[in-house]
Amino acid sequence: MGKLSAMPGRLSAMPQRLARPRDPDGHSAEAEPWRAWYNLKRWKLLRIATFVRDLFTCQMPDCRRIETDTALLVCDHVERHNGDPRLFWDERNLQTLCKPCHDKTKQAQERRARVGPA
Ligand SMILES: [Zn+2]
Repeated sequence: MGKLSAMPGRLSAMPQRLARPRDPDGHSAEAEPWRAWYNLKRWKLLRIATFVRDLFTCQMPDCRRIETDTALLVCDHVERHNGDPRLFWDERNLQTLCKPCHDKTKQAQERRARVGPA
């Protein structure tokens, strides 16, 4: 799994994470105003366009699940946008993931981000 050198960072990050109030998606609305972008019609259209482009197929190479119920699909940002509108709205930065793959990759990414360069 992870490198041994990453362990202290990950362990020290855990209590903070538990203490911070978060919504079910694991994000804080106040700290992340870009969350509102997900409610825009522009995003909903872009999301569906991404699913159509990817043929409703999870883009994880070892998954490739075809899911016709869009409630079970996630329009994922390949590169974390961190509130950058250029990355957020770039269709080339979007991919279709099934929910299980999305939850798995996002958790791994956020863990990497948290233990990244201090
Ligand atoms: Zn998948």
